[in-house]
Amino acid sequence: METKFIFVTGGVVSSLGKGIISASIGKLLQARGYKVTIQKFDPYINIDPGTLNPYEHGECYVTFDGMETDLDLGHYERFTGIHTTRHNSITTGRIYKTVIDRERHGDYLGKTIQVVPHITDEIKRCMLREDEKDEQLDFVITEVGGTIGDIESAPFMEAIRQLRWQLGRNAVCVHLTYVPYLKAAEELKTKPTQHSVKELQSMGIQPDILVLRTERHLDDALRMKVASFCNVDLECVVQSEDMPSIYEVPVSMQRQGLDAAILRKIGIPVGETPAMQRWHDFLDKQRHATREEHIGLVGKYNLQDAYKSIRESLNLAGIYNDVKVKLHFINSEEITRENVAERLDGMAGIVICPGFGQRGIEGKIIAAEYGRTHDIPTFGICLGMQMMVIEFARNVLGYADANSSEMDATTPHNVIDMMEEQKNITQMGGTMRLGAYDCELAKGSRVWEAYGGTTLVKERHRHRYEFNDRYQAEYESNGMKCVGFNPDSHLVEIVEMPSLRWYIGTQFHPEYSSTVLHPHPLFMSFVKACIDGTAQA
Ligand code: GLN
Repeated sequence: METKFIFVTGGVVSSLGKGIISASIGKLLQARGYKVTIQKFDPYINIDPGTLNPYEHGECYVTFDGMETDLDLGHYERFTGIHTTRHNSITTGRIYKTVIDRERHGDYLGKTIQVVPHITDEIKRCMLREDEKDEQLDFVITEVGGTIGDIESAPFMEAIRQLRWQLGRNAVCVHLTYVPYLKAAEELKTKPTQHSVKELQSMGIQPDILVLRTERHLDDALRMKVASFCNVDLECVVQSEDMPSIYEVPVSMQRQGLDAAILRKIGIPVGETPAMQRWHDFLDKQRHATREEHIGLVGKYNLQDAYKSIRESLNLAGIYNDVKVKLHFINSEEITRENVAERLDGMAGIVICPGFGQRGIEGKIIAAEYGRTHDIPTFGICLGMQMMVIEFARNVLGYADANSSEMDATTPHNVIDMMEEQKNITQMGGTMRLGAYDCELAKGSRVWEAYGGTTLVKERHRHRYEFNDRYQAEYESNGMKCVGFNPDSHLVEIVEMPSLRWYIGTQFHPEYSSTVLHPHPLFMSFVKACIDGTAQA
C-alpha cells in the first residue's frame, strides 16, 4: 500500500490534547494491522527542546536513537509501542538550519532563498520522511504544534496545503477545536470552531475531519450545525469529551468511528472494527484499581508535565499492580533535615527525579537519606541516582564534602564525575550521552530479578556525569552495589542496596520505555515493593 498521510492541526486554544488524539489515531490504525508512525512538527526556533527549561515546554523526551524531543512523542510511544526516531520530532529551527547550511554550502546555485519555496520544500521533505525511505509505512500521522493563526506555524500550513494537493486522496486533514460551554447562557458555543475552520480554509486547507474538545456531551443537532457550517460530513464530526483517563480516548474515538472515517476519506475498505482486547483489559484493570498507594515525587519542577513519563510509568505500573498510584509532588528545594519526616509522611515509596544544576539537590540528598535510613522503597532516576550515591558517600563512607563535579568542580570527593568523552564539549544542544545503550545486569541482583532474569537490557540516557568507578570497591564493601554496567564503556548504570527492601538508582531513564501494554519492569517492581510495604505496615 502506498503511504497515506494524516495531518493533525489545532484551533481556538492550545492544550486541547492534539498529542493524545494523534496517538489515538495511531493506535486505532495500528489495531487494524497498519504500520504507522507519528511525528511532531513544532514551530519554535530551538533546534530541539533539549535546551528548553521544563517550565517552558514540560519534559524533554528522549528517543531510542538519542534525539531530545517534545513530550508528545512519549504519548505516541506509550499508546502505540512504536519506537520514534530523530525524524519524528522536527522544529522550525531544524528546518531553517538545514536550509541555511545548504545555502552556505552553495547548493542553491545563487538563488534567493525564501520561505516559499525553500523552507516549505524542506518541511514537505520532512513530512514525507524522505530521509527514511525504506521504512515501509502505511500511515504517517503528522501533528503540528501550536494553534491555527499563529504567525510562526504559517509555513507548516502552507506545506500541508501543497502536500494535500500533491497527494490527493492519500492525505487527510484532521482539525481539533474547542466547543466552550457558557454557564450563564447554559449553551455550548460552536462559533470558535467555525472561525477556526474559516481560518484554515483561508490558508487553502479544508479539514476532512473535525474533533471537537468539549466538557459536555454534544448532541447530533450541534454536530450537524458544525458539519454544515464547516463543509464536513456529519460522520466526520467527532467529539472528544473529558475522560477519566487519557487511555480511554482511543476507545471513545473508535466508538465514534474516527478511524473508519479516515479510511473512508482515503478510499480504503473499512472492514471489521478491531476488538483491541488487550487495551480493553487494561482499561478494565484501570477502572477497578481504586485502592490508593501514595508515592512521593521529589523534584524541583512543580508542574504536571515536567515529569510526564515518570508519572505515567508509575500510573501504568500501579494499574498493572491493581492500585491507583496517588502521586505527591514534594518540592526538593523546601526539604530540610527538620521537615523531611513530615514531608514524606505517609509515602509508601519515594522517587528522586532527574534534573540539572544545583537548585534543589540538597533536598534530594536528604530525601535519599530518609528513604535509606527508614527502608522506604526509593527509586533514583539519573540525577536522582547520583544524589543517592552522594548521600551514601557523605553519610556512610564519611566523605562530608562528596559531590558531583556538576555542582562542585573542585570537590576532592567527586563520586559523580564528568564522563571522559564530555570533557571537551562546549556546545550545549544534543551533546550529552543520549539515547539507548546496552546495560549488563549482575546475575542475582534485585534489578536482574525485576527484569525477569535477563542479563542484557537497553535503556535510554540523557546525562553528562557518571558514577566515579574509582570509588566502586568502597561502595560495594559498605553495602551499595553496582549491578548494571555498559559492556563497552564500563560505565555504572545501576546501583542498589540489597540489604534494603527496594533502594535502586538508575543512571538511565526507564520512564521513556514504559508503554500501556508493556509497563516497565523496574516501575512494576518498585510499585510492588511499595504495596508490600503498605500491606506490612
Ligand atoms: N545533571 C545530571 C547529568 O548531567 C543528570 C541528568 C539527568 O537527570 N537527566 O549527569
